[in-house]
Amino acid sequence: MKELSEFCKELKKDFTPRIKDTKKPVSFWSEKDILNKKIVDAFVIILRTRGCSWALKSGCSMCGYFNDSIFIDVSDNDLITQFEKAMDKYNNQRFVKIFTSGSFLDDKEITPNVRKKILTKLFETAEKVSIESRPEYITDNKIKELKKIIGTKTFEIGIGLETADDNIRQNFLNKGFKFNDYKKAASILKKHKISLKTYVLIKPPFLTEKESIDDAIKTVKKIKNITNVISFNPVNIQKNTVVSYLWNHKKYRPAWLFSVVEILKESKKIAGNIHIKCDISGGGNIRGAHNCKTCDKEYLKTIADFSLNQDINVFKKLKCNCKEMWLDQLDLEDTGFGSLINMYG
Ligand code: SF4
Ligand SMILES: [Zn+2]
Repeated sequence: MKELSEFCKELKKDFTPRIKDTKKPVSFWSEKDILNKKIVDAFVIILRTRGCSWALKSGCSMCGYFNDSIFIDVSDNDLITQFEKAMDKYNNQRFVKIFTSGSFLDDKEITPNVRKKILTKLFETAEKVSIESRPEYITDNKIKELKKIIGTKTFEIGIGLETADDNIRQNFLNKGFKFNDYKKAASILKKHKISLKTYVLIKPPFLTEKESIDDAIKTVKKIKNITNVISFNPVNIQKNTVVSYLWNHKKYRPAWLFSVVEILKESKKIAGNIHIKCDISGGGNIRGAHNCKTCDKEYLKTIADFSLNQDINVFKKLKCNCKEMWLDQLDLEDTGFGSLINMYG
């Protein structure tokens, strides 16, 4: 939709990058993840690049990653300096995730030369490396080149599909690619035995809570035989985005954690053989997925536990009185023409 794309662009018009140091990565840390069905420490690095090329054109309606980007080209030397700074704290973790606030396979963000240097270094120690990319950068030639570095180790590419519904992806998210583009990228990865992680959004803007639950579940049904991992991302309110505009005008509420649990339970039933997880940025906060102050922590802890252990029984012990409000919202929002979206804060 042209208007949405113009609006996404407009919201970035006066944006000036907060951090201008091209030699500093955005962040790096260690966290728990799964490797060969075991829980291990994974090292995560986020490099500061010029930013996602799509965000520089207009960008997705919920994405504020560009707030961490620098909007000018970052030299190869500076990117390597960022990588080396992060690697000073690397503790030989066998699983490394290296991200940008865009696509690791976009030559405008990371040149083939830098990509090769980074991956060669990481695969000296790591058994598995994970990156993220939009589907248009996943080409047969590029993957063939990478295979020379990866060898027999595990390489995972995450694609932000968000939903299998082209209408929602295009008209509500301004994502700029189709389900078929995702399927094409997935088949290239399959051919080269590269693992695919698919990000699915919970609570895209302009959908009710109920529509969002249905959309996430429909998406799982459509991708369960295509992807190796499904990672759900409940929207959190990031600055200078369409979602933050709607939220400021009381036209958007981030997902309830009850909805997240519903989606996880149902997804595991539908796609039991694949890894289903959910990382909740800003969870328990009014700008992120939340229930009420009494139960947020317990729900978040249980969702994190499920993401590692894959056992839906962990959800059985959860309960809170605020569930009534969530059920009311599911019942009433269809008749509220959007005005109930913020009814319970
Ligand atoms: S969600 Fe991904 S593709 Fe969309 S603007 Fe953000 S980084 Fe770019
Ligand atoms: Zn509660």
